[in-house]
Amino acid sequence: MSTQTQDQQARETHSFQAEISQLLDIVINSLYTDDEIFIRELISNANDALEKVRHELLVDKELPGQDIPLEIRIKLDKEAKTFTIEDTGIGMSREELLNNLGTIARSGTKEFVKNAIAAAKEPSANLIGQFGVGFYSAFMVANKVVVETRGLRDDASGWLWESDGSGAFTIEAKEGLERGTRITVHLKEEKADYAEDFHVRQIIRKFSSFVPFPIMLDGEKTNTVQALWSRSKAEIKDEEYTEFYRFIANATDDPLYCQHFSADVPLAINALIFVPGDTVERMGFGRTEPGVDLYCRRVMIQKHPEKLLPEWLRFVRGVIDSDDLPLNISRETMQDSALVRKLSRVITKRFLKFLAEEAGKDEEKYKDFFEKFGRFIKEGITTDFTHRDDLAKLLRFESSTTEPGKLTSLDEYISRMPEGQEAIYYISGPTREAIEAGPYIEALRERGFEVIYNFDQVDDFVYDHLGRYQEKELKSADRGDLDLPEIEKKEDQVELSSEEATELCGWIKEHLGARIGSVRPSKRLVTNPAVAVTEGGMTAGMQRILSAINKDSSPMGGASMTLEINPRSPLIHKIHNLKGENGEFAGLLTDQLYDNALLAAGVLADPRAMADRLNQLLNKAAGV
Ligand code: ADP
Ligand code: MG
Repeated sequence: MSTQTQDQQARETHSFQAEISQLLDIVINSLYTDDEIFIRELISNANDALEKVRHELLVDKELPGQDIPLEIRIKLDKEAKTFTIEDTGIGMSREELLNNLGTIARSGTKEFVKNAIAAAKEPSANLIGQFGVGFYSAFMVANKVVVETRGLRDDASGWLWESDGSGAFTIEAKEGLERGTRITVHLKEEKADYAEDFHVRQIIRKFSSFVPFPIMLDGEKTNTVQALWSRSKAEIKDEEYTEFYRFIANATDDPLYCQHFSADVPLAINALIFVPGDTVERMGFGRTEPGVDLYCRRVMIQKHPEKLLPEWLRFVRGVIDSDDLPLNISRETMQDSALVRKLSRVITKRFLKFLAEEAGKDEEKYKDFFEKFGRFIKEGITTDFTHRDDLAKLLRFESSTTEPGKLTSLDEYISRMPEGQEAIYYISGPTREAIEAGPYIEALRERGFEVIYNFDQVDDFVYDHLGRYQEKELKSADRGDLDLPEIEKKEDQVELSSEEATELCGWIKEHLGARIGSVRPSKRLVTNPAVAVTEGGMTAGMQRILSAINKDSSPMGGASMTLEINPRSPLIHKIHNLKGENGEFAGLLTDQLYDNALLAAGVLADPRAMADRLNQLLNKAAGV
């Protein structure tokens, strides 16, 4: 940030941080449609400032200005074409002015702005609000914005900030201000209707019906509200919940779910938790930041505290109000408080129970939820040990039993398990077709065992991490130690004796050398001649994830795997007979079997060698 003193009145000119300049560019040049949201954004900032000061004043009775009424005043001037909003909130010191209205501090917001600029060039008004760049929306309608402010602890004077939105702003001292902030928006010629009482009154009513402080429009009070979460559920209409969600989440969509509950034990809680309509995290706009506010007896303690709820719950929006919290709880040490941890556990448990109930009530709706927010549930399974089982209950997946596109749950899976099935099986692959064409599921299918299909690369990791559900072990179907019950040989099937099979395995191992970890006869295969399985360590699915993350490392291939051969396969039988009389041909067939197995496991590193060999085999087959 460059600073230069211009004249004797100590008016300093600063340039905006690069991201702000880019953002202003977007705001000014491409966001014509929803420009009325600037009113919502400025009211929401005034509201935040009032919440903050209310809390500070309650905690420290020695602070001056205890009797200044907490309110928002909007003044319109048609002649001057100005829209002015004042609040008696916490105000800003010089330092805060510089930091808050000139730079983007939060990394999440920065990332979002970068992505929005790179991707769309035109983020919707909804997104602008959600990522906390609300103040700058004033430049949609302004050719100049003036901010006069005096911080709660500023004793000497206040400050005046001014900008036309074109890359720089000025700051200077200003005498005679009261605590709080006044923002004067000098309207562009074509935006002069934002100085019209009738027009502005409508917009305030639309956006700000939940602001808990009086909003005075040209001296007249426009709103009266009671905190929605403290009212009885029975008397609240759905529209009120939706409106409230839009207010606190700074959103324009409808919430997917809304949970409103109160409890007396173990803590006195009033909570209102929303699942938004969608998440920008899914669309690649960077990480979502937590969006639940913490209140004590309807006084906001902190807006969006970081560690209030588990991290994977960052997608929910809402309010948690507890009578049991001490009002003077410090924001810094809040997450260390045993009380807050208890609060977090209670809310999380209730919310997970709520989701499980909703899933039972309306499967289709829950499917929509899971498609949008399932990643957070999965993240929770791998990071939050306390809630792992409740989270696992919420998993949904396709399986060998479901129809394509239909989802089922672990509980339903268990209810379908036949006699003799001990474990829960899963396998990953890019599509249903690919999985069903592969060699891994036939053994399970033949025994009537259901297999979970994982299409998302992270799933293998999640199920592996989960390890067990309802006492049942979760096993990847490509593991070597599946311990499946024997299947009777059919009458017309050939089968190598166990000595022959052992002998052939020895021969194959010698032939493949270091390319394979070990070779053994298979108990699982039904029709496929061979399959590559993993022993305890990393599944083939995990190998695939790792090589996808690290482009330089190719999958480890067969070196760490076991090749299982099917003693009942005619081809295996043939190789056994050939190896004595025509070792070279038997070797060629073995090499191809090996590559086929790695290909099915998704860990074949170099397919070119295989193409050469296939030509050789074709020649042989054609008798050339
Ligand atoms: P957000 O409200 O999401 O933080 P904004 O761009 O709306 O983002 O505001 C940026 C910051 O400027 C706020 O976080 C706050 O610190 C400060 N600010 C804006 N308006 C006011 C106000 N009326 N009183 C005090 N501080 C304010
Ligand atoms: Mg804001």
